[in-house]
Amino acid sequence: MTELTFTRTPATRLPDAEREAVLADPGFGKRFTDHMISIVWDREQGWHDAEVLPYGPIPMDPASSVLHYGQEIFEGLKAYRHPNGDIVTFRPEANAQRLNESAARLALPELPVELFVQAIRELVTVDADWVPSGHDQSLYLRPFMIADESFLGVRAAERARFMVIASPAGPYFTGGVKPVSIWLSGEHARAGRGGTGAAKCGGNYASSLLPTRIAAQHGCAQVLFTDSATEDTIDELGGMNLFLVHRDGRLVTPELNGNILDGITRKSLIRLAQDRGLTVEERKVTVGEWRAGAADGSITEAFACGTAAVITPIGQLKSEQGVLVDFGDRAPGELTMSLRDELTGIQFGTVADRFGWVERIVTAEG
Ligand SMILES: *Cc1c(COP(=O)(O)O)cnc(C)c1O
Repeated sequence: MTELTFTRTPATRLPDAEREAVLADPGFGKRFTDHMISIVWDREQGWHDAEVLPYGPIPMDPASSVLHYGQEIFEGLKAYRHPNGDIVTFRPEANAQRLNESAARLALPELPVELFVQAIRELVTVDADWVPSGHDQSLYLRPFMIADESFLGVRAAERARFMVIASPAGPYFTGGVKPVSIWLSGEHARAGRGGTGAAKCGGNYASSLLPTRIAAQHGCAQVLFTDSATEDTIDELGGMNLFLVHRDGRLVTPELNGNILDGITRKSLIRLAQDRGLTVEERKVTVGEWRAGAADGSITEAFACGTAAVITPIGQLKSEQGVLVDFGDRAPGELTMSLRDELTGIQFGTVADRFGWVERIVTAEG
């Protein structure tokens, strides 16, 4: 038995006019829908007490393990409104599986894939009015799991809570997709061999905040992290995977080396590119290779990818040594933009879903 019956406690809904005002310009991660999901786990009972609750504060003991030892993992996916009014999500089972891989690394309990998807369905169905219909708008879903046993001893908690909250999201780029500059961090690492780099956990993000602040001081939106041992092998950005595009159409992306996150956008783009007959190389990639290729013209485009921004073209790579790579006015590149259009087209229902990636949640006339 992996399905649970959700107890539903209806929220006082935000009045229609106020919700519409939020949806007109939602930004990112600022406003939340009327409801949230909570499911409790403990060693004796497993997963239980599945609930749809009014969005709001959660009871938490000051000795909760997550507050002291950072035992937390999360996911990120979106719900999209199709032109016919249907609401869909994109590859939710892949997020469910990845949550479980993160759970294993952080010694948290695994959540049955069906229960994860059921939780997403419950929330998106009850808060369907919150899925915006404007261009490039979506409802961002944030599933997460915390250890909330009240105990200061250092061991894996025997009590946890899984939750899902949702937040309407506007287009990541207002005024068209613009290339960003990224900062090569020489000083700070996000992952090392045997660490938590491949898990989607809050701790990885905590350690990326200082280098991201330094990057911003240099006019860069994101940090490029390298393998902490070689300081030359590229891992990924703080929250996005990286691709380099060769003039001959070959795509190169760092292999899943145990330090980087197995991005669902990355995985999907690999498939789309291969389906076009392009070669995708998942292997070790170095900063040196990127610099040399950009300098001799064999590497023509670079982009970062992840659920929030889908694809972000990279215009420049900078470091303490100065500008290492500069695509100038050639960015955003042609292949970068055409892959972005194809993937967002599938998500928003304007391009055929030939891989069965789209999962319908709410049908417009029913
Ligand atoms: C979430 C995340 C990504 C992107 O994964 P998607 O599934 O494509 O959203 C990449 N890197 C890190 C570190 C992440 O946390």
